[in-house]
Amino acid sequence: MSKQVGQDAALQVATPKRTKEIIARHGFSFKKSLGQNFLIDQNILDKIVAAAELNKTKGALEIGPGIGALTQKLADAAKVVTAVEIDNRLIPILSEVLEGQSHVEVVHGDVLKLDLRALMERRYADTTGVSVVANLPYYVTTPILMKLLEERLPLEHIVVMIQKEVAERMAARPGGKTYGSLSVAVQYYCEPELVCTVPHTVFIPQPNVDSAVIKLSLRSAPPVQVSDEAFFFRVVQGSFAQRRKTLSNNLGALVGKEHREALQQLLSGCGVDPGRRGETLSLEEFARISEALLESGLVAQIN
Ligand code: SAM
Repeated sequence: MSKQVGQDAALQVATPKRTKEIIARHGFSFKKSLGQNFLIDQNILDKIVAAAELNKTKGALEIGPGIGALTQKLADAAKVVTAVEIDNRLIPILSEVLEGQSHVEVVHGDVLKLDLRALMERRYADTTGVSVVANLPYYVTTPILMKLLEERLPLEHIVVMIQKEVAERMAARPGGKTYGSLSVAVQYYCEPELVCTVPHTVFIPQPNVDSAVIKLSLRSAPPVQVSDEAFFFRVVQGSFAQRRKTLSNNLGALVGKEHREALQQLLSGCGVDPGRRGETLSLEEFARISEALLESGLVAQIN
């Protein structure tokens, strides 16, 4: 008979005792370089899964299942689960923990190199929506999230545990110290919501930083219209190049000294004081400046 993981609390791996038992029995040693910090707290796992709004018609894509703590919960909550794990030493452990769960597939690979669109087409055709749900490896949090967003994968939500400070930057509003190009990039694609903060004590081994769960709900369309996205993001990045400098100075570096005056006029024409700093600008203001700069030809277009 297959194991009914969700119905038998004794089989849940996310307890200190079970996690230690599994890693000892398999002779597993943690690799810091792969961001391996395994969750050992059922309540936090339940909060992550609840935030993803899954049901038995939905699909879940997990990145970095580890020994399967979150995967077990996703298997209970979703119709189809795919878990992508880079470390081949974890594959036999996952097979054991997830035994009998035919709707769960573990894919061995580096998520940054996988064709996720093809994987989604193969796995989730019979679902009514897919969300990414993961306790991400912190050394590659931003590249993974930017891949998911920039590839415009058909996702409903991305619910991830990440470093608290990075979660705060993603959800920051204009005017705050943590607002920057990452906030603008994430908010261009999603509506962010901080779900909860998580102390470092609920992991084995314990990371050096505190964590947070963030929920990113994908927008059906960006909140601002820009005619060249790459150019828009270049302007945003340029505006934050040196945080303490004004827009006039930071964007001045993009347009060149000889065009400083034209830049000041352009910013004023957009209703933005050239003396402001990038950290005070809304997405709408960045979009306005980007469109005006593009039209002016002051910054060469990006192909
Ligand atoms: N989900 C498990 C949990 O919550 O206990 C483990 C989370 S642990 C923070 C991150 C996991 O991501 C590890 O299992 C690690 O091996 C895996 N990982 C690291 N880099 C990866 C990559 N590029 N692609 C896929 N998995 C990766």
